[in-house]
Amino acid sequence: MKIILPFNDIEKYPLTQRFGERFLYGGKMCEHAGIDYAMPRYTRIIAPFNGEIIRITPERTTGYGKAVYIKARESEDRRIAAIMAHLDDISVQVGYKVKRGDFLGSSGNSGFWRGVNGYHIHFGISINGKYIDPMPLLKKEYEQRATLFNQDDSSIKSFLGMHTIEEGESLWTIAQKYYQNGGHFMEIYKANEDIIKNMNLIYPGQVIRIPALKNLGI
Ligand SMILES: [Zn+2]
Repeated sequence: MKIILPFNDIEKYPLTQRFGERFLYGGKMCEHAGIDYAMPRYTRIIAPFNGEIIRITPERTTGYGKAVYIKARESEDRRIAAIMAHLDDISVQVGYKVKRGDFLGSSGNSGFWRGVNGYHIHFGISINGKYIDPMPLLKKEYEQRATLFNQDDSSIKSFLGMHTIEEGESLWTIAQKYYQNGGHFMEIYKANEDIIKNMNLIYPGQVIRIPALKNLGI
């Protein structure tokens, strides 16, 4: 059964959290049950394999926000399912049959955990109800392109993308825009120290990097 990442242009989006990484949620240590890729809002999210939509959650029911659950059609004796979470909007309904690569919705940052990593997709795969690391499954499919999967720490790309400063913006408002939290202005400054000499002086037209924050996991 062929499984792909639930988005195109896989080399464009940095892996921001791996499977099994530990994070604090509601005072409890949790283990990350999927993999996260930072990406701009409204990126096309596609079906990772041929299957059927089995569940959709609205924005604020779970930490995963608007999420689509899909069950594989060709999973033989194993029950294989996947979750694509924190979406902005969803274009399918429960019961829809989809093919690998079909459009499911757009990426966002919905859910109780929003604003921690900024816009990203959470992708989880479960076999017989237990979440497993999707990487090895994907790697097999993309053998020659394995390097694109950022397996080594050193190869993790740490930027969401670039931003062109507009009139009236400050690092605070830019942090607010990308992370829903102006308090992350310092991370933006640190990622651009070669460009921004004084954090209170930024200019319209300047192009700066927007770092992918990988502190707490979603
Ligand atoms: Zn996640």
